[in-house]
Amino acid sequence: MTASPSPAPAALGCVAPAPAPHAHAWITRSRHPTSEGVVVYVQCVECGSLRTDLIAAPAAVPTAWSRIVRTP
Ligand SMILES: [Zn+2]
Repeated sequence: MTASPSPAPAALGCVAPAPAPHAHAWITRSRHPTSEGVVVYVQCVECGSLRTDLIAAPAAVPTAWSRIVRTP
């Protein structure tokens, strides 16, 4: 019995190609006040990646609250 290797996900066409490396240019998609601060959903205008930021205080600089999620 021989084991055949599974095709790589890219061979199945289910994985979007990774965008070329670049500095993401985030724009705000929506803002929501919460008990932790303001949660901001941002999207890169170049590649469409998504991220969630948290602004803990009104004058604070936004910090990444999530990993970057690539969109197809
Ligand atoms: Zn980007």
